[in-house]
Amino acid sequence: MRFLRTSTPGRITPFPAFLLILSAAAALNIPAFAQKEEASRTTVIKAGRFFDSEKGVFLENQYITVQKNRVVSVDASIKAPKDAKIIDLGRFTVLPGLIDCHTHLLFLEKIGRQGSGIAAESVASLVFEGDALRALHGAARAKTFLEAGITTVQDLGNSGQFADIALRRAIEDGSVVGCRMRVSGPGLSAEGGQIPGLVAKHLPLVNDEYRIVRSPDDAVAAVRENLAMRVDLIKVYADSAPNIARLSVEEMAAIVKEAHRYGVRVAAHAVSERSIRDAALAGVDSIEHAYSLTDETIQILKEKSIFVVPTLLSSDNFARYMEISGEADKDVIQKQYQAMLKQSRDVLQRLMKSGITIASGSDDYLDLNMPQGQGAKRVLYAYAECGMGVLDILRTTSINAARHLRLENRIGVIKPGSFADIIAVEGDLEKDIRVLDNVRFVMKDGAVIVGPPGTR
Ligand SMILES: [Zn+2]
Repeated sequence: MRFLRTSTPGRITPFPAFLLILSAAAALNIPAFAQKEEASRTTVIKAGRFFDSEKGVFLENQYITVQKNRVVSVDASIKAPKDAKIIDLGRFTVLPGLIDCHTHLLFLEKIGRQGSGIAAESVASLVFEGDALRALHGAARAKTFLEAGITTVQDLGNSGQFADIALRRAIEDGSVVGCRMRVSGPGLSAEGGQIPGLVAKHLPLVNDEYRIVRSPDDAVAAVRENLAMRVDLIKVYADSAPNIARLSVEEMAAIVKEAHRYGVRVAAHAVSERSIRDAALAGVDSIEHAYSLTDETIQILKEKSIFVVPTLLSSDNFARYMEISGEADKDVIQKQYQAMLKQSRDVLQRLMKSGITIASGSDDYLDLNMPQGQGAKRVLYAYAECGMGVLDILRTTSINAARHLRLENRIGVIKPGSFADIIAVEGDLEKDIRVLDNVRFVMKDGAVIVGPPGTR
């Protein structure tokens, strides 16, 4: 998660001060047995337009055949058994289910509340909410992601003591309807984690949310602890501003070395130029946020094939945040947004020019009074506002994200052998990324979750 620091109510400090965090009530509308029954039939989806994420092109009139939870063919003509179920999406553009590489499904920050902010909200999550309720809240949020067309997320901590693992398991066993999840468990951090301002006697509270690392040897132990709990990746905090303590390059290198022994990737929260550089030198696999970058550090990222996940705020999410915070002056909102945009655009443009692989991540943990998944999708609109074209944006949330999650050929693509994670939108996606607001159909793992219109 990032910190949105307010100096006065509703006022955001300049963009470089930004950091990060993560976000969860139950979601059992579709019984697991119903999904399984549906998933067992052969289904043919007629796509009026079809986004081929591997080639980066839109095709006309394609037929996607799905058996159980897999795609078996994509053809220009229909090749269906007589008893196949036909889903006509001829009016829509069909694409792979979206992937969000940076979520916090078990954490939600209420905005504008007296004394609010990430530190206070983190304490509230730990003290007043607790792991069990957080997992239930996370289940509800996971359903909103799925309904918004985000079929897979990588969830990066702020989920108590492995409550993310519990949610992932409940989704996998079909008792909860939600997006496919990869989870990190508690993030590895220097002293203090991301909960600044605790008085000394309450510092141990941090241990309920973060794994505090105190030496390279301890770093190795922390990785093993998380792996023993079956995490999918390791999350490390190269910085945890506004707390001052930072992990050393040696500590992060020990984390990377141990994780890579098991083929597990390491995602680094890094906001400042210095912490990004330290994480890169330590050999992490991705830099999350990356709000400030010199060309020299970009070169290091490029040489080491490190992915970058820019967690940017769209203009509409920014305005909503400000309004909920109590800022009524539209000129003030616009001025602050433009300052943020200038910096975001500069960094994103230089990343794009460098050829570094960019994967999309929302870091959407703010309570914007809308379905969480709907708000998360808007990170893709932020990329557009920074000058990224539609095809490149779609790559960040499909094949690039799938590579980052080590699920290439299975998600982020619709082709023989891939999981049947398929969505459809209404409108000209090739011209306007914002038609992703108009999701009319969602299939995950071969089960229809949303639509198609007229059939349900
Ligand atoms: Zn985050």
